[in-house]
Amino acid sequence: MHQRGILIVISGPSGAGKGTICKALLERNKFWFSVSATTRKPRKGETEGISYYFLDRKEFVDRIEKEDFLEYAEVYGNLYGTPKSKVDEMLDKGIDVILEIDIQGALRVKEKVSDGVFIFILPPSMEELKNRIIKRGSETPESLMTRFKSAYQEINYVSKYNYAVVNDTVKEAVEKIESILIAEKCRVDRIKETILESKEGLMHEQLYD
Ligand code: 5GP
Repeated sequence: MHQRGILIVISGPSGAGKGTICKALLERNKFWFSVSATTRKPRKGETEGISYYFLDRKEFVDRIEKEDFLEYAEVYGNLYGTPKSKVDEMLDKGIDVILEIDIQGALRVKEKVSDGVFIFILPPSMEELKNRIIKRGSETPESLMTRFKSAYQEINYVSKYNYAVVNDTVKEAVEKIESILIAEKCRVDRIKETILESKEGLMHEQLYD
């Protein structure tokens, strides 16, 4: 029987290393990465349709009204959203889908997709989180402070997630996420139907071979 893909939500505070982890995960696995839409201006090196779909506010709001988003949220003054139709299409085809989204968005997805896997990425320390936000270099001193303060608050939301992965090294974090997904694919509530169907097949072979 055909098994539906798993919706994997990678979330956590800005600077925890979500983006790097997702990139490394995609290099080693056959996941489909959902490209978000945003009203934020492109940063240096970002490409339309690969990094994000860059929309103006009006286009974004039109798409909210058309219910095109699985979720959307305002993060640091810009809107970000997950286009819905492609995610559904991939999951129906049995392909696992990764969303890399902020905490508000992840909590909204959790309300809608109860069998999603919600993974919270934690920085190794608050000091390291600060260094990473600074290293990114694309922010003004005020927005750096805003990001750092909200990251500090956001860590409290870890309890709403299924798994927490500390990003000590990208390699270890990726291996942990891969192990989580191997275990998720063996969960009885996900594969019950498949097992029962194949049981009929196995019985038939035993009796008539
Ligand atoms: P950045 O501007 O640094 O690319 O992203 C800012 C934050 O927005 C990050 O925490 C990122 O995970 C989050 N984000 C990116 N895409 C989406 C999305 O589609 N929905 C939500 N809710 N957050 C997103």
